[in-house]
Amino acid sequence: MIQNQEKITKSGQDNTGQDNICVRFAPSPTGFLHVGGARTALYNWLFARKQRGTFILRIEDTDVERSEERFWRKILEDLEWLGLNWDKGPFFQHERREIYVQKAQELVQKQKAYYCFCSPQELERQREEAARKDIPFRYDGRCLKIPAQEALERIQAGKPAAIRFRVPEAGKTEFHDLIHGKVSFDNRQLDDFIILRSNGLPTYNLAAVVDDMMMNITHIIRGDDHISNTPKQILLYQALGFPCPQFAHIPMIMGPDNTRLSKRHGAVAVGQYREAGYLPEALVNYLALLGWSYDGQQTIFSIPELIEKFDLKKVSKKAAIFDPVKLDWMNGKYIRQIDEQRYISLALAFLHKAGLVNEAVVQQPPAAVIKILLSVRDKFKKFSELPALVDFFFVDSITLTEEARSQIMASQDNLSLLKELYERLLNIEVFDEVSLEALFQDLIREKGIKMASLAQPVRAAVTGRSASPGVFLTMSLLGRERVLTRLANCLQTLGGGLRREGFVIGQEQGS
Ligand code: GLU
Repeated sequence: MIQNQEKITKSGQDNTGQDNICVRFAPSPTGFLHVGGARTALYNWLFARKQRGTFILRIEDTDVERSEERFWRKILEDLEWLGLNWDKGPFFQHERREIYVQKAQELVQKQKAYYCFCSPQELERQREEAARKDIPFRYDGRCLKIPAQEALERIQAGKPAAIRFRVPEAGKTEFHDLIHGKVSFDNRQLDDFIILRSNGLPTYNLAAVVDDMMMNITHIIRGDDHISNTPKQILLYQALGFPCPQFAHIPMIMGPDNTRLSKRHGAVAVGQYREAGYLPEALVNYLALLGWSYDGQQTIFSIPELIEKFDLKKVSKKAAIFDPVKLDWMNGKYIRQIDEQRYISLALAFLHKAGLVNEAVVQQPPAAVIKILLSVRDKFKKFSELPALVDFFFVDSITLTEEARSQIMASQDNLSLLKELYERLLNIEVFDEVSLEALFQDLIREKGIKMASLAQPVRAAVTGRSASPGVFLTMSLLGRERVLTRLANCLQTLGGGLRREGFVIGQEQGS
């Protein structure tokens, strides 16, 4: 499954020179890959490919309670499905724990960080007090006052301690965001945040900075929900004596109701889109346009075109709205564009999943099956919609939908028309499209009716539906026996008085 990963290394250090563009996608494996995450990965990937840089995959699994192997495995699989191949990694943060401890201690030595012995209960008490006074909670820095020697003695005596970063008391932390422009935070808004927990695990900010630093990341492209972490990370870079990478915070994705896209809006996991029969290139094309536009006109982009045209400068600051209707439209367009062989094999996979065809048909589809699949190619927008469009070709018995039934019962003449057709079909020599059409033409001429007045009730009777591919094609693909049986059953059920006995549909396929 995982083909393009390098051997997982512990150091995560690479040989990318500082001048080389290097970006990373750093998901936390606490859930499946969401379309928002996929878009972040895509923007990083496009940026790297365009600049001939390096795209690193890093799994941020320091949250041991919530991180699960099945999640990161699926994230890798989804990225591969989307075609977002990575050049290095995946690196796992849980394998790099000593490095974070080392860096946190280095910061203590440089007096940029300090041990904090406040118990969770004590911190809770301070939090409650702040709430009572109606002021935002900010750690009051009480452990900063503990002399270094005493702090060390407490540690040696086995007292649990976290490490807090010492945020400068005054001044501002500013950066130039490639999308938002100048962003400025007052240091007084930031409190002395924890970088290493008392259980020895790093917090996100420390682990991310240490890794970005050691992996020579030049550009951090991520969701703008992380913008408030950036000043803390910049302070960490400065304290560790390392130049800051550039930041590009991309806009959030909202649902059609303008709230942050979530499960409430329907499918959000990439895997769900795959299951529903979206094509990876359609999803990639659609996600690329969520927050980025080339000239405001063009909507369909091949992958090489995206690589060539993608530009962070053209990414919007404003939140993007996820529009499932547009995605469906785009997917339908791609379904009609892909090569025939790929179309057939995807279509068969979905029919197989729906239980309509067996493995043998998937392996060697008969010509009639291929014809059926090609006849509906422009009638659906995602492969999961396909089985319902063609199931009547593959099942033994059909049930008329309400609509089909009322189409047949719309006129009293329809039943006798169907009966007459039935009798003529018994004698037709060749049961193919051309002869069927000739037979229909004769019948409507004699009756003085329009083709639709005959074709529609026939379609309803032999498919059970009000819509199907062309009626002559449909009938020829169903074959004489099934058409006759379905017409007879329909007449029997609806009062036309005909029944064919002893016929087992399904044995006659292709007749
Ligand atoms: N693990 C973080 C997330 O999944 C990554 C944030 C970042 O890119 O720095 O949101």
